[in-house]
Amino acid sequence: GTFSASPSAAQTASLSSRAPDRHGLPTMSCIVPSFNEAASLRELLPRLSDVLQLHCSRWEILVVDDGSRDDSIEVLRQLSAQPRLRGLKVIRLSRNFGKEAALSAGLVQARGDVVMMLDADLQHDPALIPQFLDAWRRGADMVYAVRRSREEESSLKRIGTRLFYGLLNRGARFEVPPDAGDFRLMDRCVVDALLALPERNRFMKGLYAWVGFNTQALPYQPAARAHGHSKFRPLRLAQLALDGLTAFTHWPLRAVSTCGILLAVPALLYGLYLTLMYLLYGHNVSGWTTIVVSLMLFCGLQLMSLGVVGEYVGRIFEEVKGRPLYLVKEQWGQGLDAPAPAT
Ligand code: UDP
Ligand code: MG
Repeated sequence: GTFSASPSAAQTASLSSRAPDRHGLPTMSCIVPSFNEAASLRELLPRLSDVLQLHCSRWEILVVDDGSRDDSIEVLRQLSAQPRLRGLKVIRLSRNFGKEAALSAGLVQARGDVVMMLDADLQHDPALIPQFLDAWRRGADMVYAVRRSREEESSLKRIGTRLFYGLLNRGARFEVPPDAGDFRLMDRCVVDALLALPERNRFMKGLYAWVGFNTQALPYQPAARAHGHSKFRPLRLAQLALDGLTAFTHWPLRAVSTCGILLAVPALLYGLYLTLMYLLYGHNVSGWTTIVVSLMLFCGLQLMSLGVVGEYVGRIFEEVKGRPLYLVKEQWGQGLDAPAPAT
């Protein structure tokens, strides 16, 4: 049950050649990461299954319970017993591993020709799934929903988002589209490509962009959260941003060395000048301010640079440890693994 993409699989990166026919109704896997969303799940799953029933030949809903501490598990057990939710498969992680890990847990087990990911909190409306499928039928390998506006967010969060995408997309060969989240549909070829990536830091927004393929945006307006509150508090969001930046950029390292050179050269020249002055005019004790200010400036810059390097070293440490991304405590329901009903 744990995530294991072997390095050799990533090196060969041979993508599956199983090209599903895009005309008929596809088989679909819906991945729903969920952390303390009991109330929302009760509403979402019946709605979702109604949509899937109409638009897919066969389907499964993979709810990845990311260590919920509310009564999600009881709710999921009750829902699993409903005949119309026969396609429900629940993957319960051993603790809270984070949304990115939960999504990976779902991806590993998804069996459909197309995979849809949506949040459990009803912000991602299942009624949009037919539109995703239309785009897929017209040839898109990945269809991602882009929020039309961020007006309902605080201006601080908007500025932070702008800054983050600005930094992230600096000089990259591929662009991570801002305003696009995890509400998306992926063809089997994209899923296999994602699964072949061996890294442990699963910053999904970056990985989607990295794999490429034929992508298409679908504008939508996220609904307000129906129950509870967002799990991404500002601090958590900042951590996620840092994970994304270290995983998909290395220009900060170069910026640090450039900064060092830009400071070292004038410092050297100034040093030469001071030595010359000393030799020509003798001992000179003035310059207290210069010493203190430059000492503080250089110490600060050094610590900052060390911090930047440290962030990257920390990620290397995470990767080298090679621990699994998540652990599955239990799971039930067969999803698409169940034999197809005789027709
Ligand atoms: N989520 C998760 N694990 C976490 C945090 C969140 O599985 O540690 C799920 C959460 O249950 C929801 C989705 O990720 O289905 C998005 O979370 P949320 O709505 O809190 O984030 P926002 O919509 O504010 O970005
Ligand atoms: Mg949400």
